[in-house]
Amino acid sequence: MAQQVKAIRGMNDILPENIHYWHRIEGTVRSLLGRYGYGEIRMPVIEKTELFKRSIGEVTDIVEKEMYTFNDRNDESLTMRPEGTAGCVRAAIENGLLHNQTHRLWYQGAMFRYERPQKGRYRQFHQIGAEVFGMDGPDIDAELILLSARLWRELEIDSMVTLQLNSLGSSESRVIYRDKLTSYLSERKDQLDEDSLRRLESNPLRILDSKNPAMAELIANAPKLTEELDDESKQHFDELCRILDAAGLKYEINPCLVRGLDYYSKTVFEWVTDALGAQGTICAGGRYDGLVTQLGGKETPAVGFAMGIERLAVMMQESGIEGKDHYPDAYLVQVGERAMQQGMIIAEKLRDALPGLRLITHCGGGSFKSQFKKADKSHARFALILGDDEIDKGEIGIKPLRAGDGEQKMLPINAAIEFLQQQI
Ligand code: ATP
Ligand code: MG
Repeated sequence: MAQQVKAIRGMNDILPENIHYWHRIEGTVRSLLGRYGYGEIRMPVIEKTELFKRSIGEVTDIVEKEMYTFNDRNDESLTMRPEGTAGCVRAAIENGLLHNQTHRLWYQGAMFRYERPQKGRYRQFHQIGAEVFGMDGPDIDAELILLSARLWRELEIDSMVTLQLNSLGSSESRVIYRDKLTSYLSERKDQLDEDSLRRLESNPLRILDSKNPAMAELIANAPKLTEELDDESKQHFDELCRILDAAGLKYEINPCLVRGLDYYSKTVFEWVTDALGAQGTICAGGRYDGLVTQLGGKETPAVGFAMGIERLAVMMQESGIEGKDHYPDAYLVQVGERAMQQGMIIAEKLRDALPGLRLITHCGGGSFKSQFKKADKSHARFALILGDDEIDKGEIGIKPLRAGDGEQKMLPINAAIEFLQQQI
């Protein structure tokens, strides 16, 4: 046998047995965002490398070491998108979306990061994101947070997640804070780990984000960004908290929440869970008022979030929450020459009469016994039985496969259709 070609490490196949979680998540998000008036946008998977360097920032984990970057045949540097915001902003500028009414956008799709694969962390993963342009008030920040909270309720995972909130202030106030933090940390260089020493020069705020327990105390005692907030950012943050309070949404203010990307300002938030071990963030976002100009557009305030579908799917699976109902209603068993000749035609008749019917038609022959085994395995509710006897009488056998669904019976085809209509 020829040697198998394997998938790339950290890039997963999502199999039919698990796809129902994805369908429920994607279907719920699509419906929810539609109800809030968000329009879907689909961007290319590959963009010019410069787009990510300029938006995410040169000294971030993503740009420093996680991007899939290559030169194409024309020697142009291209990158598989590591996140959706940069491409969405590019598309919004390029297509003139910022000047008309299309201000609330959402997208979904595959993202690529060269990270160490582990549970909840992959090299190809999938995000659903929402971005809103042209609104600078805390009301829209609140809308994004409230709609994500509603999503957790609709997915039945709301009891497992908590909201963390912080404000990064304006870029000016962050410069002042950065100096304070740098001098605090520089005086304690001996307590910094290798990663943090590197970041001390390039991106000291990211040190606050460190998960290294040995640095927890150092970080807890560091000067707080919230104490340096400029008045406008402070007001914005207070008003956001007021709306969330009034809506009865609980949150925790986490002064160490800084997010890994450069483009954020003012509001940042994360939805976190204890249910997933180390990879506890299921959704993260914030305001990025400077990014549109940074990418060549007119000054436009913006705010958004992105969530990871893999982590949501694992959460649902591990807590026993069902995805979208995905089992067939019926499995058509057909034994005997005439039954096999008619089976496909009768199945089509059933589908004509019952457009919503999820019906698997057995193909490939075999005994009643082996076909019933397959019917059972399919998790169908009913086995529909066609033997030569049934064909002679113009009837169809109906055998319930789950407890509580009554006795086996034989019905004329029209009566069988009526019966199934009541069941599905
Ligand atoms: P983390 O701190 O977990 O690395 P991040 O800050 O890099 O997250 P974002 O860029 O904000 O993550 O992406 C938003 C969401 O996308 C995350 O909360 C997570 O659910 C998901 N996500 C990010 N990176 C990965 C990955 N490599 N594999 C699976 N999901 C991911
Ligand atoms: Mg990351």
